[in-house]
Amino acid sequence: MTYDILIVGGGPAGLTAAIYGARAGKTVALIERESIGGQIVYSPHVENYPGLPGISGSELANRLYEQVEALGVEVISEEVQQAERADGGGFTLKTDYGSHTGRTLILATGVQHRRLGLPGEEELVGSGVSYCAVCDGAFYAGRDVAVVGGGDTALQDALFLSGVCRSVTVAVRRDRFRGEAALAAQLRAKGNVTVLFEHKPAAYVTDGDGALTGLTLDGPEGQRTLPVEGVFLAVGQEPCSAAFAPLAGVDEAGYFPVDERCRTAVPGLYVAGDCRAKAVRQLTTAVSDGAVAALAACADLDAGK
Ligand code: NAP
Repeated sequence: MTYDILIVGGGPAGLTAAIYGARAGKTVALIERESIGGQIVYSPHVENYPGLPGISGSELANRLYEQVEALGVEVISEEVQQAERADGGGFTLKTDYGSHTGRTLILATGVQHRRLGLPGEEELVGSGVSYCAVCDGAFYAGRDVAVVGGGDTALQDALFLSGVCRSVTVAVRRDRFRGEAALAAQLRAKGNVTVLFEHKPAAYVTDGDGALTGLTLDGPEGQRTLPVEGVFLAVGQEPCSAAFAPLAGVDEAGYFPVDERCRTAVPGLYVAGDCRAKAVRQLTTAVSDGAVAALAACADLDAGK
């Protein structure tokens, strides 16, 4: 079957696009390679989503998913490997299991965790190095850990870990946080949290069995090694755009450029959420993009474009 709207990505932007497309009477399929919900499932408390202060990211994702399912959207668990535009219009997505076609295509592929790229990092992921405090924090209950980064994710992770771990040291490469002042104020009130500004990771320290025992930092007064068993990396994100870059085009940072209706330069192709070029990446702006992109797709379908 050829869907009116194909959506790639099951985070808040893609799910919202699916809701708007289905409610406009279009046939909609949403393709997601991992679990539904995107990055938001890692937020223990979403405190800045209007009307739902304190909701957990996973609960919000579950509610969005239930809403999408109830509207009859086809949710497909596959990974898109290639996207093509047909000469007469419409799109074909080749996945690890087959292919899907749509008259329009909305990319809501989001972002993924940036790596530090220090020696041994890949081997330590899952056994000392983590990108998700909510998922892995319990493994470090009562122990000493470090968080690297100064954005909202680092602040949220450090707040969460302060309730689980014996001590949390936050290494921030600049002389200030990049994240929200309100989160930084909450963190300062925690007795078991130390913040080291102007400190940048230099090396992981391991014992003879390869287990993490420390994190060496470069700081204004030279190097120091934190004796920690866990390091939570929260150093930003990179767009998941590689598979679609030949079709949609990307900027120098890998994000998709779109206009204010979330339209790309390719007719019938739209981008919503964190993977598009924009100044503010928040849950609110992701759901906003999802609505805008879906309504643009509906308008273009109705106009026969
Ligand atoms: P981010 O805002 O890009 O912050 C990344 C942090 O990591 C910055 O402090 C950055 O330092 C640091 N960093 C980057 N590369 C580094 C390196 N190689 N070594 C050491 N430090 C490094 O990323 P994020 O915190 O994941 O947030 C991403 C987006 O999601 C943001 O728009 C954020 O507002 C949003 N978000 C919002 C919430 C919320 O509840 N409001 C929660 C999570 C995320 P510099 O500052 O020096 O670049």
